[in-house]
Amino acid sequence: MISTGKIETKGRVVVLKKPTVEGAWYLPAIFKGLGFTFRKMVYNIFNQKKMPTLNYPEEKYEYGPRFKGNHILTVKKDGSVRCTACMLCATNCPAQCIKITAAEHEDPTVEKYPIAYEIDVLRCVFCGFCEEACPVDAVRMGPEWQTPALSGGKFVYDIQQLAYRPQLKGGVQSVLDDHERLDSGI
Ligand code: SF4
Ligand code: SF4
Repeated sequence: MISTGKIETKGRVVVLKKPTVEGAWYLPAIFKGLGFTFRKMVYNIFNQKKMPTLNYPEEKYEYGPRFKGNHILTVKKDGSVRCTACMLCATNCPAQCIKITAAEHEDPTVEKYPIAYEIDVLRCVFCGFCEEACPVDAVRMGPEWQTPALSGGKFVYDIQQLAYRPQLKGGVQSVLDDHERLDSGI
């Protein structure tokens, strides 16, 4: 049984006093809470500009350019993915949510490439370690953060989603192409 009486201490003795009418009925406290909420609601209706919250989705917060949102796999000049399937991102990922399947490229001047690259964004903690670990600017984290979907499977992003989703308008080009990199001796 839950007691609503007050607890007092007399020395080392704890005395449980009989419940008051207010404590036993709960109703005064409930009305007090409702009154507080109603006062706040009326205040907010007439002072909308002072509200610290945004009316999402009509209003959206603009994050800075360094915001670490949805992942992007960058592309080379010819439009193929820049990733060399070195596995450094997957090895460093604390959530173990990156899965890569590597393959040999038919062009001997090109390193390995991923025939499959998946990120489970439901497991991702958006820490940015993958971006930091990548030696060739092949994975970045961009400003997008709204990722609604109706089923869990839609949150596993594949190469198509990571490199060529419509928002990327054909793909984000990496800093260096493979051939540029070889020519420059890096
Ligand atoms: S942001 Fe962090 S958790 Fe998410 S895929 Fe990259 S390394 Fe893993
Ligand atoms: S994204 Fe970068 S770190 Fe990850 S496998 Fe590709 S090249 Fe390596």
